[in-house]
Amino acid sequence: MTQRTALREELLVAAPGRVRFEEPMRLHTSFHIGGPAEIWAEPQDPEELRRLLGIAAEAAIPVTMVGGGANLLVRDEGIPGLVVHLSGPGFQTFRRTEEGVVAGAALPLEWLIRRAQEAGLSGVEFLAGVPGHVGGAVRMNAGTHDDEGEFHHFGDCIHSIQVMDLDGQVRLLPAEAIGFAYRSTNLNGRIVLSATLKLSRDDPRAIAQRVQRLWAFKKKTQDWSAPSVGCIFKNPPEKSAGWMIDQAGLKGYQVGGAMISTRHANFMLNSGNARAADLFSLIEEARARVLQKYGVKLELEVQVLP
Ligand SMILES: Cc1cc2nc3c(=O)[nH]c(=O)nc-3n(C[C@H](O)[C@H](O)[C@H](O)COP(=O)(O)OP(=O)(O)OC[C@H]3O[C@@H](n4cnc5c(N)ncnc54)[C@H](O)[C@@H]3O)c2cc1C
Repeated sequence: MTQRTALREELLVAAPGRVRFEEPMRLHTSFHIGGPAEIWAEPQDPEELRRLLGIAAEAAIPVTMVGGGANLLVRDEGIPGLVVHLSGPGFQTFRRTEEGVVAGAALPLEWLIRRAQEAGLSGVEFLAGVPGHVGGAVRMNAGTHDDEGEFHHFGDCIHSIQVMDLDGQVRLLPAEAIGFAYRSTNLNGRIVLSATLKLSRDDPRAIAQRVQRLWAFKKKTQDWSAPSVGCIFKNPPEKSAGWMIDQAGLKGYQVGGAMISTRHANFMLNSGNARAADLFSLIEEARARVLQKYGVKLELEVQVLP
């Protein structure tokens, strides 16, 4: 038996029915783009996750996390090693404790908002219209303007998080230890298992109204007409990335099946059968033109895997 075959058999035993090989990543990304994950695993609880990480460490293969896939650009060549996608009720909890609500990493943000609203708890409704899961939103410190121009970050409502390190150790990190900044944290190499959120009491109907208003605002200001990852670039301090790409004359610019949105120039769309390579060409073109016109180097917000 080859080493790779032995590894595959070990993984299948560690998480029966929840490991697949050569899994197309286009099925797991909002872009619908990406080559295969060599090993795709959907652990249902921390024990199963720890077993998988132990096997990966022993075989010295890389481990990559995928949440809702709403901020990923996966290369056409795919992702080598183990790709972990937490799933199942064990990672989708919504539990009230003295410190706050404990939300599982695999809980979709839409469910989080709905559960909080039903419980009369306010503080996460600003995430309405931001796709993804709690774990990915923590890692990215997801954030957005509301319809009154105020900026909110997920990090602002986090009390603490539970993480598992790649050696299987579980730790509780207070918010101050996470290094929350604009679309970034210091969580590389750590797996978010859950987040404890500071929420405040409010009337469920008032929360529902705010959620509806924010959804309408997102639909008006963003482009949801084709698969995307939301904004491709971070906004530099000078001006918004979308405004500069627009001024550089790139709205509607296409490479293969990928296109810069005609509505919001920081959105790149999979308008057909786009490959990751098409997106990289668009990204390079936008960067080059904005650098030439404004002297600003655009930094990616989307996470490129691997
Ligand atoms: C139409 C559209 C609109 C959007 N609008 C916004 C917006 O307004 N504001 C905003 O901030 N974002 C926006 N986004 C981007 C996206 O919704 C956020 O970045 C979201 O937080 C991604 O969560 P995810 O679970 O999909 O993470 P993924 O895309 O799966 O992963 C993102 C990163 O987190 C890591 N990761 C995932 N899960 C874990 C985990 N459990 N532990 C550790 N690391 C993990 C991944 O390795 C990767 O580095 C938008 C996307 C789309 C498609």
